[in-house]
Amino acid sequence: MDAGNDMTGDVVGNVNDDHDSDHESRSDAARAGRRDEAVRAAVEQGLLGPTTPVVGLLDVTGIQESAAALRTAFDAVTAPGTPVLHAFAVKATPLVPVLRLLREEGIGAEVASPGELALARAAGLSPGRTVLDSPAKTPAELREALALGIAVNADNPQELDRIAGLMRSAVSRSPIGIRVNPQVGGGSIEALSTATATSKFGVALRDEGAREWVVRAYAERPWLTRLHAHTGSQGIPLSLMAEGVAETYGLAEEINRRIGRPQIDTIDIGGGLPVNFRSDATTPTYADYARVLREAVPGLFDERYGLVTEFGRSLLAKHGTVVARVEYAKSAGGRPVAVTHAGVQVATRTVYAPGAWPLRIAAYDGKGRPKEGPDVVQDVAGPACFAGDLLATGRALPLLEQGDYAAALDTGAYYFAHHYAYNSLARPGIYGFAPDGAGGIAFATVREPQSVEEIVAESGGAHAAALTTLRAPGGR
Ligand SMILES: *Cc1c(COP(=O)(O)O)cnc(C)c1O
Repeated sequence: MDAGNDMTGDVVGNVNDDHDSDHESRSDAARAGRRDEAVRAAVEQGLLGPTTPVVGLLDVTGIQESAAALRTAFDAVTAPGTPVLHAFAVKATPLVPVLRLLREEGIGAEVASPGELALARAAGLSPGRTVLDSPAKTPAELREALALGIAVNADNPQELDRIAGLMRSAVSRSPIGIRVNPQVGGGSIEALSTATATSKFGVALRDEGAREWVVRAYAERPWLTRLHAHTGSQGIPLSLMAEGVAETYGLAEEINRRIGRPQIDTIDIGGGLPVNFRSDATTPTYADYARVLREAVPGLFDERYGLVTEFGRSLLAKHGTVVARVEYAKSAGGRPVAVTHAGVQVATRTVYAPGAWPLRIAAYDGKGRPKEGPDVVQDVAGPACFAGDLLATGRALPLLEQGDYAAALDTGAYYFAHHYAYNSLARPGIYGFAPDGAGGIAFATVREPQSVEEIVAESGGAHAAALTTLRAPGGR
């Protein structure tokens, strides 16, 4: 499973026209330039240094550009007036200021837990721009979502029964759909492939009797007006994603035909656009995917259906950078090892599954300037106390020395916002950056760094004597 990022070339080459690729590569280069400026400014302004040796940085301009690219891509292929909701998959970057920024860019939220729903609400997202999908919604969660009027996709027949029960006892404005798994197959990363034959998500459409069950479910429940599939994620080729959408569209057509009216009015195509982790290039683009979809499923765009999308990784990944100070530089078995403050706590997937999730590492000197010098094969290690806590092994980079900085690139989604509390390592501060209008960089706090006091409190500090004073009632 080493081909995690090797899956897009086949389709992309055919659909990218020159005009778009010029524009894309200019904005990709500009993003890399902004990143270098931000690292330097973070060191200069003291956000990063000996006492705060790791931070997460978010490129506000880049996030705005990706949001605009998403809107433009689908505007270009949908009939005028088609309702389109782009709902950001909150799990990719569960940070309230990010959700608010996206809201300002016209992007809604896809949530999958009470916590994610609370984040979306704290960011000011309205129920009409929020979608709830989770494979394990409790009755209380469903009741809350229906009371608020949030769109809900039922994962399975038991959940649909629960929703039906709630719909009988109260009126709800919530649009309701069923999530199906078109079972078109997986990609190169098993753990992220949602459309395999035995995926835990949705109603497995090709299982015996399943398709009939779905058609009947709609026929018996006129309030079922949406159909949902999410056939990502990272590691899935565009052609396979399009096949999943085509299967879903075909089912919606069949249901509406058999019921005799357009009961399904909205198709939720999920997210899952893969991200290129090998360079600064944005490939595939939203425009690429929209064009592939339009070719594969023209009927989806002819104004009979509203659309919902649920992109996560592709909106944020390239706009985040973890920067960590090199505490020590040593050598072991002839190999240089830079011991940094970024490891499993901020890059959990990469550390545990380095073959599927390799990250690019950039070297900066002690002033935050891109490091010059010949490439040296070295390991970049994290601070955690287990041998495998490595951000990169055998990587050719200018030699990292004590007091330098190592940056893990493309970590804006599913990385530093997904802290793993190994060794009680603190959650780093996260700062958004943008040009300050005077040739410099301005930062805004997105999340405060976690303090040691908070770590103690979150680790049962208030209950220190709980176990030593535990007594059975009436015990000795
Ligand atoms: C995770 C998830 C997404 C987003 O996937 P990305 O690969 O981050 O785009 C969208 N929809 C559902 C239902 C998901 O579980």
